Amino acid sequence: MSDLLDRLRGRGWRMTAQRRVIAEVLDGDHVHLTADEVHARAAARLPEISRATVYNTLGELVSLGEVIEVSTDRRAMRYDPNAHRPHQHLVCGQCGTVRDVHPTGTPLADLPESERFGFTISAVDVTYHGLCPSCASSA
Ligand SMILES: [Zn+2]
Ligand SMILES: [Zn+2]
Repeated sequence: MSDLLDRLRGRGWRMTAQRRVIAEVLDGDHVHLTADEVHARAAARLPEISRATVYNTLGELVSLGEVIEVSTDRRAMRYDPNAHRPHQHLVCGQCGTVRDVHPTGTPLADLPESERFGFTISAVDVTYHGLCPSCASSA
């Protein structure tokens, strides 16, 4: 499990019922939900929760650095609670399953100086695209 709830409690984040449900929906491994998915899952537990509350809370979690925004496809931004361990993503092009992966090389070091055009590079995002085993076996 990612320890999102523990981390938020540890920082003294004001925990209302609505915020707790949002944090619980996001807690776990390999979680990469769109804002609408977070809202749908939160509303299943707390029907009165509004989309605005979900959006605002997600924005706050991102600015706290406890959730990262991930763009693994050209559709919606996804929210990822695995914010403290650098990782890349493996995405199934058919069902959209996303896995956190840890390449053995360092993507930044793999870019030679001659290809950096004088940039100071702050982050690298690598997305591996393919088919997950269950989509591959039903293809
Ligand atoms: Zn799949
Ligand atoms: Zn991730």
